[in-house]
Amino acid sequence: AKESGRGCFKFYSESLNSKAIDRLKIEESMREALKNDDFELYYQPQVKLSDGSISHVEALIRWRHPERGLISPGEFIPIAEDSGLIVEIGRWVLNTACVQAKHWQNTLPNPIRVAVNISARQFKSASFSDEVAEVLLRTDLPAELLELELTESAVMNNVKENIIRLHSLKSMGVSLSVDDFGTGYSSLSYLKRFPIDTLKIDRSFIIDISNDENDEAIVAAILALANSLKLNIVAEGVETLRQLETLKKLGAQSILIQGYYFHRPMPANDCEQVLKSAAK
Ligand code: C2E
Ligand code: CA
Ligand code: CA
Ligand code: CA
Repeated sequence: AKESGRGCFKFYSESLNSKAIDRLKIEESMREALKNDDFELYYQPQVKLSDGSISHVEALIRWRHPERGLISPGEFIPIAEDSGLIVEIGRWVLNTACVQAKHWQNTLPNPIRVAVNISARQFKSASFSDEVAEVLLRTDLPAELLELELTESAVMNNVKENIIRLHSLKSMGVSLSVDDFGTGYSSLSYLKRFPIDTLKIDRSFIIDISNDENDEAIVAAILALANSLKLNIVAEGVETLRQLETLKKLGAQSILIQGYYFHRPMPANDCEQVLKSAAK
């Protein structure tokens, strides 16, 4: 059975056969959920280490299941990816995040950029960049307020094609970030050829950063790399003051911190309150 977080519903049965049946059921209920508008976006602020300001948030999907309560994406996104439903769910996410970003542009004093997770399958679909252009037009959102997060493995596959794709997105004015950086087989020489803006250091390097010299060395190396390639950095999964202080010690003043130490992902309305008080 799959591990699941506190309060999360366990979808998976023990036996292989019933696992397959579970998957079919989940696919079916995901289709229902799209129809019934049972998905919801949570938002997690990214806090600037140097001054505590917030100008970036990441949108993270949740499934508000009528019987099972709130289900986290780790439970259903992999199944949505396998079945192809991720393309439709991804469209919903992109649209909802852009509507929210536009609302914040209208109501908050300072600009907030919203980052959206794009799955490999979505990114590879031929119509993806047209869809991005279309949603920006329809929601009247300035492209610089949208950031697309692509995983390292999605970007590093079919490098030639992806460079073209990334450039076409970049030319619209959206920002691009590489998610879970350091976990995939990244080829560093490609990094400079990709028109990307941000590296997100995976949580697995942050967890032990205050105790493990190797992790500290890896993060220091990523920071140096980002610095010389002029990329922004987000450190994910910062939960403790000690982790934060280790990052400060590494001279990472300009980086953004995304983690429970500052904020957990939260519903849009709660996030709006956080953004309002941070702007004061
Ligand atoms: P991710 O893109 O790497 O997102 C960061 C995950 O780390 C989120 O989990 C977030 O809640 C969690 N996190 C943030 N700070 C901390 C911390 O300090 N400690 C710990 N333990 N965790 C922290 P979440 O929301 O459960 O999402 C899991 C994954 O599901 C995401 O990982 C992403 O791969 C996927 N996902 C979420 N929303 C979407 C979406 O809209 N579309 C797609 N394609 N994938 C999504
Ligand atoms: Ca992400
Ligand atoms: Ca990540
Ligand atoms: Ca991840």
